[in-house]
Order: sequence, then structure tokens, then C-alpha cells
Amino acid sequence: MGAIDEAALALIRRCTDCGDETMAPAAEGFRCRNCGHRYRFDANGVLIALPSAPGLRLPNFYRSRFYARWLQAWDDMVARGWVIYERPLYRFFSLSGHRRIRTALDAFGPTAGPIVDLGCGDGRLLGLLGRRSAIGVDLNAAFLARLKTRAPWALTVQADFNNLPFATGSLTCCTSAHVLEHLYFLAEGLEEVHRVLAADGRFLFTIPTEGGLGWDLGRRLVTGPRLRRDYRLDVQDVMAIEHINDARRVLRLARLYFRLERPAYAPLPFVPLKSLNSSITVTAAPLPTEHELRAAA
Ligand SMILES: [Zn+2]
Repeated sequence: MGAIDEAALALIRRCTDCGDETMAPAAEGFRCRNCGHRYRFDANGVLIALPSAPGLRLPNFYRSRFYARWLQAWDDMVARGWVIYERPLYRFFSLSGHRRIRTALDAFGPTAGPIVDLGCGDGRLLGLLGRRSAIGVDLNAAFLARLKTRAPWALTVQADFNNLPFATGSLTCCTSAHVLEHLYFLAEGLEEVHRVLAADGRFLFTIPTEGGLGWDLGRRLVTGPRLRRDYRLDVQDVMAIEHINDARRVLRLARLYFRLERPAYAPLPFVPLKSLNSSITVTAAPLPTEHELRAAA
């Protein structure tokens, strides 16, 4: 672990077991003053902020042999460096949204608190954003362990997107890069981001232009044949569950919770066609708390 980021640690306040927001530092982690639930750091320095019982239940499909085959295919692609991030041309397209977030962050201005990257994976975005106070949140502990090499300054937290260890209204800036399209519980996830953001905070997110011709063609010509040949997987079946939300659905739902400022396509921002771009990046400002969705809580 690098030097302890006190500003980042100070944001860990909410118990993911009982929802109490007065979590306090304790020996080797944090302890809930209300129910006694503890968070501990694992051997890799990852803070485990999971509740003691699992949360929302995913469909059985995510435990099927079909889905296991896809996860194996993905692991193999990562191991062979075949994944889109590892080839210069593909990387130019696939990281276009990450770069837009960096630009949007500069436009938003210096943030008062740490950046919280939700679904940070192995730190692709945080590494790109440069050294600054940051928290990387992901459900996958193996990814978080690898983040230590890309962005060793970041506090790494294992938590569920729908059940974050941050107090209500306590964050100034959340980010997420190519995550929302995967969330089976998308509305719940957006409500959680809305909850943790301060009224003047911002949620900067990028999603693939899923539903456009560009991704469809790429899958027909590159990914599809490979998955069929090597893994007997139909890429359309895989994407139906892996990218459960297309861009239209993500933006529609996001508008219920946020005012979407400066939507920008990439890598061709001046050609506003999702079919010719690979990502769309948005700066989202939370709608007022008296918004009826919030008031119903
Ligand atoms: Zn508690």
C-alpha cells in the first residue's frame, strides 16, 4: 500500500449491513457503531465493504454453464492480450470514452474531495486520470488487487454498486467507464449514485454506443467468429446478458435522476451518430432531492 489517503478514508462512513452512516475507523478497518459490522483490509490492501448477506439476486443465467464459458473466454482474451484494450487501433476506440471523462473532469473543475470510480476494474480510468486523491470501487477483488500497479495511490474498496459505503450527499465526483451497460440492476445503481452525490456533485460516466452499427459490425466481423469457433458461443446471446442495457436505455433511466450536461460522442465528437462512434460520455448533475423518486424513499 502507498501512503494512506486520509481524505479518501474519511469518506468511508456507511454500513452496508444496516445503512447507518456513522461508520468509524477501528482496528484493521472500520466498525459500525449501530450494528457492529466490520470492514477489513485484505492481504492486498483492499478494503472489503460487503454486507454480511448477499444483496439483490441475479437471475440463474449468471450461474449457467453458458455464462461460465463466456467468463472463461474473457479471461483467455485478457491473458493473451487479445482484448480490445491491448491493441493500439482498438485501444484508440475503446478508450475514447475514458479520455472524454478526463476532459470532462477538467471542465468540471478541481473537485473538493476524492474522485470515486465506480466499477473501476483494474484501474484503467484512474491510471489515465493521473495521480490524485481517488477511491476505486469494484465487486471483483482480483481486479482491485491489480489496480495497485496502475494507480497505487488510490484507496481500493470491494463493494456493490447498489450498496456503497459512502454517506448520503458526501461525494463531489463519481465516475464510471463502461460499467452502466453491465448493470442488471441499473435503476438501483443510478439511485445509489444519486444518493451518495452532494447536490453540486457530478457523475461523469461513459458507456459504449451499444445499439449502434459500429459495435454491431465489430462483433459480426471480429469477436463473433472468434467466440463461435473457439468457445461455441453466440456473441449476440452473450451481449444480451453481458451488455444488458443499450445506450438508449442507460440515458433514458439516467435522465430520471440526473440532468445530463454535455453529452459527447467519441472518438468523433462532431459526428453525432452513435453508429460511427464507440462511446458516449456524459456529465450528470443530480436532480434536486425533492425530486419525486427521491422523496418516495
Ligand atoms: Zn451497521
